[in-house]
Amino acid sequence: MEKQCIKNFTIEGLTEYFGSIGEKGYRAKQLMNWLYEKNVGSFHDMTNFSKELRGRLDGEFLVSALELAEQQVSEIDGTSKFLFLTRDGHYIESVLMNSEGSDEGRLTVCVSTQAGCAMGCRFCETAKMGFIRNLETAEILDQLCQVRRISGQRNNNVVFMGMGEPFMNYDAVLRAADIMNYSFGFHISVRKITISTSGVLAGIERFIDERRPYNLAISLNDTLPEKREKIMPVERSNPFSRISDLLDRKFPASRNRLTVVYVMRQDNISHEDAKRLKKMFRYNRVKLNLIPLNEGTHDYRPPTEQEVERFIKDLEIMNVPITVRKSLGRDISGACGQLSGKKYSGCGGCMAGNIPSDCI
Ligand code: SF4
Repeated sequence: MEKQCIKNFTIEGLTEYFGSIGEKGYRAKQLMNWLYEKNVGSFHDMTNFSKELRGRLDGEFLVSALELAEQQVSEIDGTSKFLFLTRDGHYIESVLMNSEGSDEGRLTVCVSTQAGCAMGCRFCETAKMGFIRNLETAEILDQLCQVRRISGQRNNNVVFMGMGEPFMNYDAVLRAADIMNYSFGFHISVRKITISTSGVLAGIERFIDERRPYNLAISLNDTLPEKREKIMPVERSNPFSRISDLLDRKFPASRNRLTVVYVMRQDNISHEDAKRLKKMFRYNRVKLNLIPLNEGTHDYRPPTEQEVERFIKDLEIMNVPITVRKSLGRDISGACGQLSGKKYSGCGGCMAGNIPSDCI
């Protein structure tokens, strides 16, 4: 039987496993500590486990779910992009955004949740791969383990905005987020974990109903449904107007912090767009995150600096709460919408989930 990766287990699952082999329950926390806090790469490094127990774990499970295929570092801003190979031969990517230059000195890892993606966003390199499969919890967590080990840096932020639509892999994604938050795991604060969606209504509703404590980012990217549908086919079955209604009903009572992401193109930043955004923003806890479009193989034109400035001014005059972010890692195709999982070709990511500036 093929070994499974131990990082697929929650604390409850590990406690049950250790019970089943006659070991005390506290071993589960010890193991989590080795895997995530100490971030070891082998069961044999777990020195407070007996030799027999280490051998047994090694015989039954794997510690790592991924293998590093390539790493690229941006000469412009130090952003690193990691290309990983899954055990069944698919490439996925993670990005470490070195935000030392930012005011808050944050370090963010952007993780992938699927190999490929079925959502078909027109501006996205990942979409061109089509959907391959959901990633396991272990494959999501191992991105973080390996990025930390390879870079020698400990990130304090995580964004689920790499390849794939997180809410189409809901269970594995939320299990990974919970393990990242465990005090004996990575111990990353819930306020520093952001799940991003292109706008999957059922996932957003479930996330709010289950009172998940993480930040939520939803991609809007156009104010007119017919234009949004052209760039984000998800609009057809999950109209943003229904997401808006859902937020009207449920968001005021939820504890989540919500960012609405708006990637600026030349054709979605008119004065009329600003007015429609003003109308959409009914919740004072929602922030609009503006990100200029990255260059890519898509047909859309990035806005000029002057166009961006004029749009920002429009929104500021209308009192729409905004943040503006510059893209990181452009020279290594590690910026949003550029992750394609192609070996040697640079890579990509989820522009639907452009990384909100208050997350990095
Ligand atoms: S932008 Fe995100 S949701 Fe859209 S196709 Fe790309 S990876 Fe999928």
